[in-house]
Amino acid sequence: MTGITPYIFKIQRYSIHDGPGIRTTLFFQGCPLSCRWCHNPESQAMDLLQGAKSFGTDLPGLRKPLPLSEERVEELVKTLVHEIEKDNIFYDESNGGVTFSGGEPLSRPKLLLPLLEACRNQEIHTCLDTSGFASFEILKAAATKADLVLFDIKIMEERDHLAFTGKPGGQVLENLKKLSRLKVNLKLRFPLIPAMTDTRENLCKMIEFLTKETVYRDIHILPFHTIGEGKYEFLKMKNELKGISPPTDERVEEVRQMFESAGFNTRIGG
Ligand code: SF4
Repeated sequence: MTGITPYIFKIQRYSIHDGPGIRTTLFFQGCPLSCRWCHNPESQAMDLLQGAKSFGTDLPGLRKPLPLSEERVEELVKTLVHEIEKDNIFYDESNGGVTFSGGEPLSRPKLLLPLLEACRNQEIHTCLDTSGFASFEILKAAATKADLVLFDIKIMEERDHLAFTGKPGGQVLENLKKLSRLKVNLKLRFPLIPAMTDTRENLCKMIEFLTKETVYRDIHILPFHTIGEGKYEFLKMKNELKGISPPTDERVEEVRQMFESAGFNTRIGG
């Protein structure tokens, strides 16, 4: 919890995994999905009070988070841009900038859209890190304001998407097709999760879909890791992947080769 606002649960500085260069990442509280492999389970609660409580935090004002009135948004954007600008020197030296992540930043459009605009006005490079699970109107508004979109693609089969993320994935794929038609600057991110996203069928369908339906050929493969395990224990949340081992280097390489031989530029990690 940043202490600035319960809408942003963390500000991470000097990140090198959330877009180009050195970045400051703002993590939005609230996500409509509940992916079984989520490394930020603390970010999922849409209810701000519940989100804050999950940290054991009792910040003043959190008992009743202020609604996002126009005045409140203006004030918050000013405060957050001030925080972002503290790292200007690193952005300038590394071609970095700010990344809006989460949780799902698109679940807070009232705050996200003016923040993207304010950063653009200050000539700060912006990345939108999204699951793509949102109405297309909101996604389009944010994606066309951001300099780069980092878009998660997870599971092609509707039934499996529902089982492993809590929501069907058709809207995500439709949204990706529409962004492609608009030629939004976008890189794909693929979480490689044993037996969930990492199946031959899922990979083949994904490559076919991306090749036929989109112009996007840059994909970051994000192998499952167990770093978030402690968070599940702390939050007393069920960790459905407890005991699952990360994919071996050989498996990651095989998957990378599958994408590469289909004409994709790959990168392992964020
Ligand atoms: S979309 Fe991201 S933040 Fe949301 S549940 Fe999935 S992994 Fe977690």
